Amino acid sequence: MSDIGLRNRGSGVRIPLAAQECLEKAPGFWSRVDRGGGPDACWPWLGPVDKDGYGLCSGGPTTRASRMACILAHGDPPSDEMQACHALTCTTRKCCNPRHLRWDTVAGNHADIAAAGTRPCGTGHYKAKLTEQLVLAIWARRADGPTKVANDLGLSRAAVRHVIDGKNWRHVTGAPASAVSP
Ligand SMILES: [Zn+2]
Repeated sequence: MSDIGLRNRGSGVRIPLAAQECLEKAPGFWSRVDRGGGPDACWPWLGPVDKDGYGLCSGGPTTRASRMACILAHGDPPSDEMQACHALTCTTRKCCNPRHLRWDTVAGNHADIAAAGTRPCGTGHYKAKLTEQLVLAIWARRADGPTKVANDLGLSRAAVRHVIDGKNWRHVTGAPASAVSP
């Protein structure tokens, strides 16, 4: 990656404005993040990591890189107990992609993981409730189309389509308002 712009990989996907702004705000930070996988991929931290595999950055007190990415993208944590939590679709603790990170409490994070892990599949799936992490999982896979995403995640096609179309959960996905069908 030679610049801070993100490649559009031909899917018509646009990076949310907030994420674009934070790229411009701290190019020094983002130059140490491998964003080569595209807007929905994990963005591994290229600097040092701690013993648990989380990226470390400094510039004042040493901070986890994922926490810094969360601050840059989503603002300061709403309260002291909030942590930078990784989405279920996220595959590395070094990840700094704002789309994979959100502020949540430890309890909230565990509840979402438990809900996703026990969500019903097959005939019972229409009752599955969307969580923020499921919504992010839908959004990350939207290029596959609502039918495939619904099958993969055990959700109803209608619920998935509403997320992809930006009718619901725009505050989570960052979908542009213009994505809403007339
Ligand atoms: Zn990730």
